[in-house]
Order: sequence, then C-alpha cells, then structure tokens
Amino acid sequence: MAEPLAKQHFGAKTVASQQSPAPYGSYSRGCLAGAVQLPETGPTWQAMRLSRNRNWGHPEVIDYIQKLSAFAATLPGWQGLYVGDISQPRGGPMLSGHRSHQIGLDVDIWMLPAKRLDLSRQARENISSISLRKAKGAYVNANWSPQHHALLRAAAKDPRVARIFVFPGAKVRMCKDEKGDRRWLRKIRPWWGHHYHFHVRLKCPRGARGCENQDKPPRGDGCADAQKWVNDILNPPPPDPNAPPPKKRREYLLSDLPRQCVSVLRSQ
Ligand SMILES: [Zn+2]
Repeated sequence: MAEPLAKQHFGAKTVASQQSPAPYGSYSRGCLAGAVQLPETGPTWQAMRLSRNRNWGHPEVIDYIQKLSAFAATLPGWQGLYVGDISQPRGGPMLSGHRSHQIGLDVDIWMLPAKRLDLSRQARENISSISLRKAKGAYVNANWSPQHHALLRAAAKDPRVARIFVFPGAKVRMCKDEKGDRRWLRKIRPWWGHHYHFHVRLKCPRGARGCENQDKPPRGDGCADAQKWVNDILNPPPPDPNAPPPKKRREYLLSDLPRQCVSVLRSQ
C-alpha cells in the first residue's frame, strides 16, 4: 500500500482541530490549526457550495470577510457578498482545485452581486457566478461595474491584505478609472482565471510563527505590468524555443508539510 497523500489526510477531516488558531507553512504548502467556520449565512454574506466544506479559515480571514461584506452591502445593487472557497477545516492540500488556500488566509469572492441572502443550500450548489472578462481576459465585459471597482479597492485597502488576484483586463481597467489614491493598486495582481471570482490573500497574522509570507509585490502600482499581460493576450509572443519543459509537480506527502501539520491532523 502506498503512503496516503497529504490531500487524502486533510480532505477527510470534517471539523477544525481544537487548538489555538495558527497557520503553518506557506499558502501552497501548509495547514491550519484552530480554524473558524464562516457562518453559512450572515447579515451581509452567504457561503456558497456548502457541500465542499471549505468555509473554514483563520479568524483574521473570517473577520475580514465579514467587514468587507458589510461594505459591499452599501454598494448600489448589492446586499453583500457571495463567498467561495476559503480552506478545508484543517487547511492543507485539497482533493480537487486550488494549489493555495492551504493555511486559511486565502478566500475567493464571487463577482456576482449578492442580490439576496436567502439562497437555499441547494440554490448555493446550483447557481453560478458571472464572468467579467472579454477577449480571454484582455478586457472587462458589460458585467463590469463601478461597484466592482469600489469593492476591489476596499478589499485591497485593508492593511491585512497581501495580494488580490484578478484577470489582467480588470486590473488595467481599474488603473485607467482610478483618479484618487493609487497605492492600493499595487496589491491587485493580474493572474490567469479569476474572472468569476477574485482571490484575496491575507498576510501572515501578527505573531504567527511558522507562517511564511510571500515576498511583497514589486513597488509601484503594477499597471504597466498588467498592460503587458494584456498585450501578450492580444498578441501572444512566439514560444521561446529555449524554455525548459514545464515542471511536473509532485503531490505532497504529509512529510512534505511543516511538522506541526501532523499534530493538526491528530488533534481532536
Ligand atoms: Zn482562490
């Protein structure tokens, strides 16, 4: 019998560990002790796809979501937020989707305006978000609204945020539309996908030893870099004949994760 993969251990856990909250490791290789569950429905949010059981996170991300959703509820046409995946009850690698979201500090927020907050469990399995992209992500489409700009700005201005991932056309659009303070744009990073949702990544919380931050984004608003992404979508550069073959990623064993993750799994 082969040794079980880390994702099989973590994917089998249905509740958080009874430990103090602590992220261990990095966003794409780690786990989470003492996770808190985002209530399925709150005054200004609903968690979506409840069957996945990924509405667990570090208390900081739960607090962040609640505050951001209260802001979203002030936007015309929005009652709050539809919240996608955070992490599994003990974090860790997942059986499907996401390489990151492992330490309870990443959350996906749906682009679909939450117009009602009384969706049933079944409706939350079935309804889809909306895509905001046009031309493979080079531009935003007609679903884009000033409310999306205001929401992403508020999302990025929270000092706890390290980065927000969204498709390149959205970043370029916000770069063009923003007439005030531009410092928040630095945290908005163009990435593949991310047109049905945007992805917020918080910094390691204060005092969380064992949690590994990513390097800060490069200085400046990053707008020229996003424009380059767009240009490359519109006019793809020829393939580099000297490019190394893509690395095949090995699936993690428990022994590949920080050692604390063993006790996170064993804990009641
Ligand atoms: Zn994500």
